[in-house]
Amino acid sequence: MEARYEMVRGLFHIGRRVATGVTLALGIGAASFGPAPIAAAAGYRTANFVVEAPTDALARKIGDAAEQYRHTLSVEWTGRPLPRWSRPCPITAQVAPNLGAGGATSFVFDRGEVFNWTMTIQGSEERIIDSVLPHEITHTIFASHFRRPLPRWADEGACTTVEHPVERARQHRLLLEFLTTGRGIAFPEMFAMKEYPADVLPLYSQGYSLARYLIERGGRHKYVSFVSDGLATENWSAALEKHYGVTSVAQMQHVWLAWVKQGCPAPPASLAAAVPAPAALAATTRGQSPDSPPPSSAAGASAPVATSAARTSIYAQARTSGQPAAR
Ligand SMILES: [Zn+2]
Repeated sequence: MEARYEMVRGLFHIGRRVATGVTLALGIGAASFGPAPIAAAAGYRTANFVVEAPTDALARKIGDAAEQYRHTLSVEWTGRPLPRWSRPCPITAQVAPNLGAGGATSFVFDRGEVFNWTMTIQGSEERIIDSVLPHEITHTIFASHFRRPLPRWADEGACTTVEHPVERARQHRLLLEFLTTGRGIAFPEMFAMKEYPADVLPLYSQGYSLARYLIERGGRHKYVSFVSDGLATENWSAALEKHYGVTSVAQMQHVWLAWVKQGCPAPPASLAAAVPAPAALAATTRGQSPDSPPPSSAAGASAPVATSAARTSIYAQARTSGQPAAR
């Protein structure tokens, strides 16, 4: 039995696991992006990617960045580069200054193998390069490494840790909002989630926050080992105790919540010193410009339905008014 898996980010929380549902999943993914506002007019091929983007220069820039992230992030997470895929991953990029940042990556797991990659990304050039692309590439690295689906919190949370600081800060602000408005997810429930919940944004912000907490205390390799053990045993409490000395999922929630209430302080120096510096990440070129709000953000913020506004506030701020909303 083969299952197509979609990793989605931002607005496009349509990911679902569909047994032998390749056609269906592709249809959903295509529909979620609506008509392309910018034609993907140029192509560029690297060892592992085939990029379609509006211009030759953008296609080349995205393809080269994808290869660099694929290498550096694989080393960062697993300690070794990813072997070349048997077939390249197609990337379709829609790039425009005021286009909301988002992406979706899908692939097929079958008998321990992973293949049939597709990746669709959109946003400003800067956000694509510094956030969307490393996020989506991390999904492909995890899929290649684990060869099976991860709990959604562990997957999306870890992928968000490689985004630009502006995006991570936004997730933290949303987390505080969710935790104070009854939208937090109890850890036993979150650890059991293999699909996206209906209220998906808290999963992203909580997953990011917990992944950050764990990575700050043990580094990325340990995080990957922890997830490996949890997947293999389905006993996440035991995996937490083995790798982080936290006795259970419930206790993890208690410890994490106390940390958030304290303002997410850095770990003790002894713990922090044991975590290797993310040299490969730091070496990757990233945009550092301030997060200037796009002109359309005011309209998004004043959306009449509070729940709807909160659900779309993360990546919807820069959406152009002419673009249909994702569902
Ligand atoms: Zn994602």
